[in-house]
Amino acid sequence: MKQRCELCFHRCALEEGQTGLCRARINRGGTILPLNYSRVTSLALDPIEKKPLRRFHSGSMILSVGSFGCNLRCPFCQNHEISMAGEGELDTEELLPNDLAALAERLRPRGNIGVAYTYNEPLIGYEYVRDCAVAVRARGMVNVLVSNGTVEEAPWRELLPLIDAANIDLKGFTEGWYRRLGGDLETVKRNIVLAAERCHVEVTTLLVPGENDSEAEISALSRWLSGIDPDIPLHLSRFFPRYRMTDRPPTDVNAVYRLAEVARESLRWVYTGNC
Ligand code: SF4
Repeated sequence: MKQRCELCFHRCALEEGQTGLCRARINRGGTILPLNYSRVTSLALDPIEKKPLRRFHSGSMILSVGSFGCNLRCPFCQNHEISMAGEGELDTEELLPNDLAALAERLRPRGNIGVAYTYNEPLIGYEYVRDCAVAVRARGMVNVLVSNGTVEEAPWRELLPLIDAANIDLKGFTEGWYRRLGGDLETVKRNIVLAAERCHVEVTTLLVPGENDSEAEISALSRWLSGIDPDIPLHLSRFFPRYRMTDRPPTDVNAVYRLAEVARESLRWVYTGNC
């Protein structure tokens, strides 16, 4: 029986046995299931600044976990080996929520404060994030989400009370650019607003030369963020040619600094990445 996945704005209508655009969710027997539940492709103890979070438990470490799949199609994806993969295409290790939480606790002596859901898009396997987040919080540790912010409102609202901090991509400030990435700007904007009501939020924008790097666009993006809260940190990162976008040079360092100054006209905390 055909079923619609209602987790993200794509709302894939899936035949029996068919997987969605994200390659991580399947219609099995009339139920939409996450194929990547507890299937871990990446696991590392990282400095929290690497997520990036600059104004949340600075100097601490965070156990970072990722699986496979993504619901966007960014041609410059840094993690395309895992984000574009489907089931059976990568080696995975099973790590159930309680085992992940126990591992996070064992890493406390090394400065670990909790778990970050990251590397691929964690929200397409949101059941795993939810179950892990409950187990992690039960051990008095924190949950960090690193996400493109493009799920529907109901699962987002369900998850947010379990999340302590999030870094959400705001990949630009035009619908046209978001459409080219397979995304939806209004969904991300709504989810940033909702997240800022519930947890610590930082935002990242990758500056792609000739696409989203005009002063007017960064000014509009920063003014909009400042309307939520001028204390929301904004990370402006350099683009490097990779995956399917190799037709242009890395973002000019001086352009990043100039755009950071533009953003600082509206926001208190603006950071430059990879400069
Ligand atoms: S989460 Fe995946 S299967 Fe569900 S609607 Fe989005 S892209 Fe489609």
